Amino acid sequence: MFDSLSERLGGVFDRLRSRGALTEADVRTAMREVRVALLEADVALPVARKFVDQVTEAAIGQNVLRSVTPGQQVVKIVHDALVEMLGPDTAELEIDVTPPAVVMLVGLQGSGKTTTTAKLAKLLKKQGKKAMMASLDVNRPAAQEQLEVLGTQTEVNTLPIVKGQQPVEIAKRALQSAKLQGYDVLMLDTAGRLHVDQALMDEMKAVADISKPQEILLVVDSLTGQDAVNVAQSFSEQVPLTGVILTRMDGDARGGAALSMRSVTGKPIKFAGVGEKLDAIEPFHPKRVAGRILG
Ligand code: GDP
Repeated sequence: MFDSLSERLGGVFDRLRSRGALTEADVRTAMREVRVALLEADVALPVARKFVDQVTEAAIGQNVLRSVTPGQQVVKIVHDALVEMLGPDTAELEIDVTPPAVVMLVGLQGSGKTTTTAKLAKLLKKQGKKAMMASLDVNRPAAQEQLEVLGTQTEVNTLPIVKGQQPVEIAKRALQSAKLQGYDVLMLDTAGRLHVDQALMDEMKAVADISKPQEILLVVDSLTGQDAVNVAQSFSEQVPLTGVILTRMDGDARGGAALSMRSVTGKPIKFAGVGEKLDAIEPFHPKRVAGRILG
């Protein structure tokens, strides 16, 4: 992940640093190269453009070019802008409310929602929270059973399955059950679709209206690059997201999804999925990721 982007940017920075003096034209040339590197890593065009404009302005607008180590200064400006684009801080789950807190996961089919629901529930359990999971996915055959199996593996309770019940009804029952049984957190795994469609969005909104989640987390597959960005845009326009979880960060994604998510949704990336195992999830650390990209 990020390997090719990191290499490209490294080359640009080496050239900048190796020069004693820098002109405005040198900075503009370097930033054009940065822009191409970002686009090749699948960063969304408006995001790459805004990033480069911001860095260029900071680099030529101040006394950077007259400083003793202009190349070094420009690299620092890029680093800071990258951290800002990604973060800037690690974002926690906001579930400190009168229980039960509701955490709803949304996203396309196959993005990793069900797995991530179980991963998060396991994480919360480790933190001493009493969590319950419920699957609202009545579309995909055996989706509810899949969550039940994951519940057994993680020793986290799941809402008993009632065949034929629709998502809003399941959400109501889950909430009531979580309240009565004194759960701290209720995790709602919602139905995905192959593509964004209005029926899916309407269902998300109806479930959110009923369950009033503290967190609505969009789960996106980082391997899908530009598509991940488009999906995030569609969801964030229609559902009040509170954060993003990027899955398959263990794969060889070019990194564009990670770099674009915050700008496109206006919400933080809260976690990264880094494998199929149920403990393969990490809080997303913008500074560490920026550090990895810039070497
Ligand atoms: P859903 O349709 O959105 O509920 O997706 P699933 O949770 O069923 O996940 C689809 C596939 O992706 C499963 O085989 C998961 O094991 C796998 N998966 C989910 N998250 C990750 C991840 O972070 N890394 C890897 N390598 N695989 C993942």
